[in-house]
Amino acid sequence: MAPPESSETQINPFKVSQQQLDEAAKVLQLDQATHELLRWPLRELHVTLPVKMDDGSTKIFHGFRVQYNDARGPTKGGIRYHPSETIDTVRALAAWMTWKCALVDIPLGGAKGGVICNPKAMSQGEIERLSRAYIRQVGRILGLEKDVPAPDVYTNPQIMAWMADEYAFMQGHNEFGMITGKPLILGGSLGRGDATARGGMYCLREASKILAIELKDTSTAIQGYGNAGSLAHKLGSELFGLKIVAVSDSKGGIFLADGLDYEKVSAHKRETGSVVGFAGSKAISNEELLELEIDVLIPAALENVITGSNAGNIKAKIIVELANGPTTPNADKILYKNEVYVIPDFLANAGGVTVSYFEMVQNSYGYYWEESVIYERLDKKMTDAFHAVHNAASQHNVHNRLAAYLVAVTRVAEAVKVRGWT
Ligand code: GLU
Repeated sequence: MAPPESSETQINPFKVSQQQLDEAAKVLQLDQATHELLRWPLRELHVTLPVKMDDGSTKIFHGFRVQYNDARGPTKGGIRYHPSETIDTVRALAAWMTWKCALVDIPLGGAKGGVICNPKAMSQGEIERLSRAYIRQVGRILGLEKDVPAPDVYTNPQIMAWMADEYAFMQGHNEFGMITGKPLILGGSLGRGDATARGGMYCLREASKILAIELKDTSTAIQGYGNAGSLAHKLGSELFGLKIVAVSDSKGGIFLADGLDYEKVSAHKRETGSVVGFAGSKAISNEELLELEIDVLIPAALENVITGSNAGNIKAKIIVELANGPTTPNADKILYKNEVYVIPDFLANAGGVTVSYFEMVQNSYGYYWEESVIYERLDKKMTDAFHAVHNAASQHNVHNRLAAYLVAVTRVAEAVKVRGWT
């Protein structure tokens, strides 16, 4: 049974991820045991973290690490800090990491971590102590050859540095490859900072060729102004001359018909903490942004924003999903019927983990590549994955998300079988 879609909060992302897999399993005629195995995480760790707060009190936080499937290699995936984090969200995100790594064909499985907390209401010292506490508990199941975290929603290179440092104390030596998205000085990779947005832009370039859409001055809206969303604004303007007419963050959105300048909007966000109130712009809501008269829509915030209730109102021709899980299964059907070209999340946002993989490789042999090498290798991975999905969609007559599942699940299932698990 499809989960109800009457309100965003009722949609369980893990149920959505299972439902998406079920559809793919049906088309692939996957055997029952492999299908059932791939519906569940192989293992998960739930941790409770006492953290000393600045006011002298001790606060107890709850966190998770889900290792979804490691048939193709060590598991990989970010750590999110969010007040409404749930184990089921982390499970879904770990499943999507599994399909993502398989789709761009890097030798890694999928994982995800999360801590229920509100980093916006915490000091840097509190965030550092929470991050170190998380690694003291979860570090036992991490490592270059086991499971490698990275940044995600509300985590960043500084947090990765604290985590790498705490892990080094636990091991008695540095092991930089145990975490990615680190600052350059601690074994980070060139090109990791904007890799998620850049990978999405390479996909958009390929889609525009297929649809014969000229990208210069193409009206675009971006929901979410974190790492992925803000850098999509920057790269979309720089690489293709996209006209970004609307952007938003958790506080609301802004619209300017003549186009928003990246440098000016990001300076405003740095100064005030939000894009809202940018001089000359019109205030719009996050919901209104999705339904604007635009050609390209880039959801780059959280899950379940395009649902059965609003998908029919979307006017964009192309959707580039930089967020994980922004579109529900009911919305997918409507978008497909309306001929909206969706570049699904675990394809569109795979640039981040692809450069994370390059970071692990560089950490392993202690030799670091130039930026041009990273861009070229990222472009090849993204372009190959894009065309694998596009071809599978044409061949099976299905929407791009299901096509991406067909490619990724086939690869994971093959590894599962050849290992003798099913
Ligand atoms: N958090 C990012 C994602 O969802 C990157 C994961 C990684 O680099 O391991 O893909």
